Amino acid sequence: MEDFFLPITFTSTVPVLAGITTGNAGNAKFPEKKREIARRLNIADSGITTGEQVHKNGIAIVREKDRGRKFPATDGLITDLPNVPLAIFVADCPPIFLFHPQRKIAGLLHAGWRSTVTNISSMAVNMISHVFGVKARDILAVIGPHICKECYTVSWSPVAKAFTECFKSWGREVLASIISESSPVSQEKFWSVDLAKANSYQLQRAGIVPKNIQIMPMCTYENENFFSYRRDKTSTGRMMAIIQLNFS
Ligand SMILES: [Zn+2]
Repeated sequence: MEDFFLPITFTSTVPVLAGITTGNAGNAKFPEKKREIARRLNIADSGITTGEQVHKNGIAIVREKDRGRKFPATDGLITDLPNVPLAIFVADCPPIFLFHPQRKIAGLLHAGWRSTVTNISSMAVNMISHVFGVKARDILAVIGPHICKECYTVSWSPVAKAFTECFKSWGREVLASIISESSPVSQEKFWSVDLAKANSYQLQRAGIVPKNIQIMPMCTYENENFFSYRRDKTSTGRMMAIIQLNFS
């Protein structure tokens, strides 16, 4: 596909459209850009279903009547309906794509730090299992482009503290792989946090097997072809992550 969109492929032949727009697509939050993206991806702009994205762990099951809706206070979307594009908007936060190929279920999460420490990833997997009566071990997950650990340096409070509290019961090894003290550039101490790895552990805790979790290595901060909130501050645009089941 063209360079306005980075497609994501699952290890399954069930047709699903998944991917994320790049900086070349423009700011996907602008209605005219969103329309243009929908046209180029051959999806219905009016059907694009989103959440308000409040950096919490609200997850919605999208039913037929919800097509095109923007769910209030929602950072995760799940559906088993074909031809309903689920979308989230990101610039550094990892988008997490979930897919159950046998039962044909798609999910999409906006996993910024606050959603991560409130367990959005494991909650989404548990929800898919309970609502649709499927096994988590059959779910495939892709963690899309995001700010990498080296670039995501944070102060102790609130971010590093929250991750330490969230993951300390997982043992020293897991904790150290998620958060580490970064090399000092000044008197002040900073920490590096691996958002993708943190979510990967949560997906595994909910039953997804490691071989079914793919972490895309592209860093949004380092790669100028992505929008990065941290790099470009408030003037930055947003990429649109999309997943749509394509069968009828
Ligand atoms: Zn980076």
